[in-house]
Amino acid sequence: MRLFSLAGKTALVTGGTKGIGLAIGLALAEAGAKLVVSGRGEAGLDAAAQKFADAGFACSTLKLDVTNADSIAAGFAAVGRLDVLVNNAGVEEACASADVDEALWSRILGTNLKGAFFCAQAAARLMPAGGAILNICSLASEVGIPRAAPYGASKSGLVGMTRALAAEWAGRGIRVNGIGPGYFYTDMTKMFYADESWRDMMLKKIPMGRFGALEDLGGTAVYLCSAASSYVTGQVVYVDGGYLASI
Ligand code: NDP
Repeated sequence: MRLFSLAGKTALVTGGTKGIGLAIGLALAEAGAKLVVSGRGEAGLDAAAQKFADAGFACSTLKLDVTNADSIAAGFAAVGRLDVLVNNAGVEEACASADVDEALWSRILGTNLKGAFFCAQAAARLMPAGGAILNICSLASEVGIPRAAPYGASKSGLVGMTRALAAEWAGRGIRVNGIGPGYFYTDMTKMFYADESWRDMMLKKIPMGRFGALEDLGGTAVYLCSAASSYVTGQVVYVDGGYLASI
């Protein structure tokens, strides 16, 4: 298991207070990483720290809003050395494209794409050779989802950014990859799951016949952040039960 070990590495997960970020953070901690979890609110950070403690892992917390450049600069300065960044913080709000206003566009792109870029930039300044950045993409990176134009733009953009940073920073020994989760039940998506017809329709599109469990993401995250993937960069792995492969 040496290839997959993150012992001695410091990993920061943005938006690691709950959902996918929390699950990935726990998997990285289990692989030996020293975890820093960021989010916007004290209550969410305290709750996340408790969940790590309950699982037997220490983690430090960092109040950081990825839409705010000053907040990113101050937060990353406090971390010092960083080996792994998971750009996970994200927002979505379904909206007919005819009704999307500038504020909504800016909120979604500002968090999911601009925020991820400036976190990657700040992280790369702290990373020694061997560093890894993992961007949390989406099925919306690859397929058109109605009422999700800003979200799709942000997540497709994240794939382009992943490739460009991978090409640019390979010479510094920093790898940049992505995970594209399929459908996972979280605070972001729970309103969809409340609709039985949506659940039935989606399950028919997923060859494995089930939605993702948050634990399904950990192995891919550990792989892409560890020496096990030392010659892999600029790639996005879709963890989607076969959804993309089947359309
Ligand atoms: P959640 O809503 O459960 O979690 C979102 C996280 O992002 C929270 O920890 C929140 O922290 C943080 N966050 C939001 N805005 C900011 C901000 N401005 N600055 C810092 N942190 C912020 O969503 P998910 O776990 O579902 O989503 C996580 C990522 O996975 C997102 O990028 C999402 O697009 C992506 N994804 C999710 C899928 C799914 O099926 N759930 C599918 C594909 C991709 P806090 O509120 O504490 O600040």
